[in-house]
Amino acid sequence: MKKSLGIDIGGTKICYGIVDENGNIISEVKKKSTPKSSQEICDTLKSIIDENYNEIDVIGLSSAGAVNMQNTRVVSSTPNLPCGYNEIDFSTLSDKKVFVENDANCAVVAEYRVGAGKGFNTVLMITLGTGIGGGVVSDGRLFRGAKGNALEVGSMKIFADKRQKCTCGRYDCWESYASGTGLKNCAISGVKEYAEFKTSILNNKTTDEITTYDIIEGVQKNDAFCLRVFNQWVDYIFVGLVSLTDIFNPDCIVISGGMCNYIDTKSLEERINKESVVTDVTVRIAQTENCAGMVGAALLALE
Ligand SMILES: [Zn+2]
Repeated sequence: MKKSLGIDIGGTKICYGIVDENGNIISEVKKKSTPKSSQEICDTLKSIIDENYNEIDVIGLSSAGAVNMQNTRVVSSTPNLPCGYNEIDFSTLSDKKVFVENDANCAVVAEYRVGAGKGFNTVLMITLGTGIGGGVVSDGRLFRGAKGNALEVGSMKIFADKRQKCTCGRYDCWESYASGTGLKNCAISGVKEYAEFKTSILNNKTTDEITTYDIIEGVQKNDAFCLRVFNQWVDYIFVGLVSLTDIFNPDCIVISGGMCNYIDTKSLEERINKESVVTDVTVRIAQTENCAGMVGAALLALE
């Protein structure tokens, strides 16, 4: 059985391990801090490959950013990675095959093969973080689009009348409403609009001080304001997922990210199936979490 070295290049940590053709992690998973320059990142990747060279057939890398069609370079800007990162040709790092793919795409492959989407035909995955990442695998194949940039779902517009500026500079991107940043934005507008704020446990805080953690804590304490903000946020997630369901006809939607554990997936699933014209979809929480990028990249390199 062939073996692949999966390497997940994150903004703070590089995480790696050996994965077999079935998606099993068959070595210890190790971590290194992500260096501050692109040259040092290359050197670190080379030393990781050297360390495992004799045991592996191919190398799969998971990275933030859009990846070219040849899966050799990251071509878009990557705010958490150093300048010069876009110039790295990853295929030159080893004489063995080196394959790079976007982290959200790697994650959906991992969930489809060994995680919450295993056994389904078409899996749509969304990751709720500071932004929203997305990916689709259908009939065993990753959907990449013409230039490898498909499923930039976070930038999907949900209003046309410039209600809220997004961190990307455009207006009304889905991620400015339905990501972690979106939850915070829901709280900011809620402070102005919801009468419940007057009696909320957060009413001694300014909008700048309220964190997503405060909202989650308030939800757990049944605070009426926090519940209303949280439900508004879930409504925004729902709106985007209904559209994506109608477009991709998934039989499984996998949601990942730190906050997804607070979402009632059963009720979200019922709402999507009621509103969408294509049914039935199952909504699940991701299972591979921290290793998703590493496992997905390793499996894609083996294809
Ligand atoms: Zn945006």
